[in-house]
Amino acid sequence: LAEVLEHEQHLPSETSDGHAMPLLVNTGLAVDAVAQLKPRVSGVGLYRTEVPFMMNERFPSEQEQTRLYHEQLASFAPLPVVMRTLDIGGDKDLPYFPINEANPFLGWRGIRVTLDHPEVLMVQMRAMLMASRELDNLRILLPMITSVDEVDTALRLLARAREELAEEGIEVASPKVGVMIEVPATLYQLPALAERVDFFSVGSNDLTQYLLAVDRNNARVAGLYDACHPAVLNALSRLAQESRQLAVPASVCGELAGDPAGALLLMGMGFDALSMNAPSLPRVRAAIRRVSIGDARALVSETLSLPTTAVVRAHLRQRLTDWQ
Ligand code: PEP
Ligand code: MG
Repeated sequence: LAEVLEHEQHLPSETSDGHAMPLLVNTGLAVDAVAQLKPRVSGVGLYRTEVPFMMNERFPSEQEQTRLYHEQLASFAPLPVVMRTLDIGGDKDLPYFPINEANPFLGWRGIRVTLDHPEVLMVQMRAMLMASRELDNLRILLPMITSVDEVDTALRLLARAREELAEEGIEVASPKVGVMIEVPATLYQLPALAERVDFFSVGSNDLTQYLLAVDRNNARVAGLYDACHPAVLNALSRLAQESRQLAVPASVCGELAGDPAGALLLMGMGFDALSMNAPSLPRVRAAIRRVSIGDARALVSETLSLPTTAVVRAHLRQRLTDWQ
């Protein structure tokens, strides 16, 4: 089976009736390991910038960050690379910037930290912009957005970073900017978000955690944590539809996109692209190539009315076996 999947990796990610489903890769560690995937993917859908920060002993300097980001952008150019601004807090701590809180997932996390420390965000944005000079494949993604004023503030900082660089004689194009859809509040503010940003990227890991009120890392409740809960799937389906109505491209970069059954559901719902860890690419591509877009849409309508996660999972398993 592994050999069959390997062979298919050079074939396009499309359904049996030719519906293309762009696959992107999630990165964070050294670029060498993933750069070889370039011919098989449509770009980087999520570069988690906190990963190199976590491996450092202090905040990387602007110069160090510029070098890191340039490496990512250059390895995949001209394909797009979505760079997420620092997403620390929650379960992700920097040894040199400890955050101790009773409820870290409801606390100082993602954009909340970097808007309270604009100097950190400004250095990061300047480094991203400088790294993208002459490449033009940078996209910036804002994590843990809850309210549109956070987007407005982040966009103002980005504009200021560009102005500063221009004053220093470095002209850089304005990158596309997107927000993570991972706090449930964003589901109800899509029109206002659509006025401000160029794309939505769904963080199904956190969206699941927050919709279900289940800690994504707590073993005691791990049995309750599943993105195939009917509430999550219904939320995702409406999100895909509304994004389409608003003409904002929407992709998914959480673990659900790397699950073959999840990927088929997301394709059937109408998401524009899926981003996943490199090891998930072969099985997802194979699953997509074995169905028609009609099959995937039917799978969605069959699934959305099912009552429980267990029933959804059993149904998905059955359908995947039918299609193998
Ligand atoms: C997510 O929340 O789904 C996501 C992609 O981000 P992270 O897993 O880094 O929180
Ligand atoms: Mg997240």
